[in-house]
Amino acid sequence: MCSEVVTRFAPSPTGYLHIGGARTALFNWLFAKANGGKMLLRIEDTDRERSTDAAIDAIIAGMDWMGLSPEGEPISQYSRVERHREIVEQLLAEGKAYRCYCSPDELTEMREKARAEKRPPRYDGTWRDRDPSEAPEGIKPAIRIKAPLEGETVIEDKVQGTVRFPNKDLDDMIIMRSDGNPTYNLAVVVDDHDMGITHIIRGDDHLTNAARQTLVYQALGWDTPIMAHIPLIHGPDGAKLSKRHGALGVEAYRDMGYLPEGMRNYLVRLGWAHGDDEVMTTEQMIEWFGFDGMNKAAARFDFKKLENLNGIHMRNADDAALYDQLIGLLPHLEDGQAMLDLIDEAKKSQIMMAMPSVKERAKTLLDLKAGLAFLFDTRPLAMEEKAAKLLTDEAKAMLGDLLPQLDGLEEWSLESTDAVVRAFAEAKELKLGKVAQPLRAALTGRSTSPGIFDVLVVLGKEESVARLKDQTA
Ligand code: GLU
Repeated sequence: MCSEVVTRFAPSPTGYLHIGGARTALFNWLFAKANGGKMLLRIEDTDRERSTDAAIDAIIAGMDWMGLSPEGEPISQYSRVERHREIVEQLLAEGKAYRCYCSPDELTEMREKARAEKRPPRYDGTWRDRDPSEAPEGIKPAIRIKAPLEGETVIEDKVQGTVRFPNKDLDDMIIMRSDGNPTYNLAVVVDDHDMGITHIIRGDDHLTNAARQTLVYQALGWDTPIMAHIPLIHGPDGAKLSKRHGALGVEAYRDMGYLPEGMRNYLVRLGWAHGDDEVMTTEQMIEWFGFDGMNKAAARFDFKKLENLNGIHMRNADDAALYDQLIGLLPHLEDGQAMLDLIDEAKKSQIMMAMPSVKERAKTLLDLKAGLAFLFDTRPLAMEEKAAKLLTDEAKAMLGDLLPQLDGLEEWSLESTDAVVRAFAEAKELKLGKVAQPLRAALTGRSTSPGIFDVLVVLGKEESVARLKDQTA
């Protein structure tokens, strides 16, 4: 045994990569990585009306941002239609499928009759054993699989356990429509088989499809891949995830300033656990990931938790890596390009100097950007309302007294500025905060910022003194 593990992510390209899809991709990616295998990407683009190239691009870009790149080129399901038809022909030739000439009206009638008799609306097998010579002229048939009439189809699911489907409920489904288009449940099986998929991990809304697909595997005499149907993601109120809850495309999370590693950590916990571990690096996830920790209960999406986890990953991140993430994000933000245009080597070194202190307070890259904004403001600074309130006449006069002392410093450092400001506060019999708050307002135009001495050092002496002069003159 022990063939290579091959998983796949198989989105339908009808929109962006939403959060549920990203979680499915993550699980497949992790499972492959955890087992030294690979994850493939199959674009299920057979619905020609709803599939778009823009959606394919968005899905690939979303996976790329999440750091979940598949192995090799994406495979288009639609491009394999001839292969699907070939398999349908094979099933027909082997007597495992048959042509059905029922008209839409007949099918509707069949359904209504079943409903009236309080039976599930199943195909009644009209053409199953009928002689093809009785086929009506000029009607293109649909192809149906000959499903077993008795017994049950059993799925040994890695998450759901043993799930049984009475075969009478899985009627002779259509595998190719009368227009010659193979159906979804046929195409998925043929593709998964041809792609050598060993493990299927997907949302539990596909559980019934799993049973139908199993019938196709059996008819073809192929091994069924191992399956794991994971619970869908719900909103915090337990209702199906909607936009209001965060059912957005992953690029929306990127634009809200979340880190890919924060997202991965948050999403992996939706439906999987490793003991009580909450904060995990991607390496740890790869080490620990497997079916064992997956659970059946619906997962609930919780923005607060995402934000907190992201904040932890921000603090743990390397400064240079955070800088790169911020630079990568800026072009996507409305006012980001303007900031980007102002970043030269000098600005970059100021950002890097401020980074350790700013990242401490930042839960997202947007917080980080806001925390760095004081580096980009031009004099005279526009004052935020709270900052303006701190700069009373009295405070301005006090800063006016402090200014020459700072200006007189020969060496400009955390220690030297700290010593001057502290001594000044003591001499004036003021608490440090009483000096630091107006100082912060004058230097940053804001009432919150990194530590005041960090601000002084990052701005440098010349700019600090000039900003103070603007407010005290
Ligand atoms: N294309 C299906 C979907 O987007 C996934 C099918 C599968 O994973 O088998 O829901």
